[in-house]
Amino acid sequence: MATCEVCGNDYDKSFEVVAAGSRHVFDSFECAIQAMAPICEHCGCRIIGHGTEVEGHFYCCAHCAQHAEGGEVVQDRV
Ligand SMILES: [Zn+2]
Ligand SMILES: [Zn+2]
Repeated sequence: MATCEVCGNDYDKSFEVVAAGSRHVFDSFECAIQAMAPICEHCGCRIIGHGTEVEGHFYCCAHCAQHAEGGEVVQDRV
């Protein structure tokens, strides 16, 4: 049993996520996403899939990256 570090819920089915060497405990994917998912710099949504990174900026999809980077052709990472 562990306490979710986002909402503080004490839940017997909580799980751990190790990212960049540090351990995080969450009770749900919703909390994990809230704590860990980067935010698209174009539309502001949470990036839950692979996302697209352009020169250190994160976008949810190639479409957003293209808009933000001034129409440059950016491809989704497979
Ligand atoms: Zn939680
Ligand atoms: Zn977006």
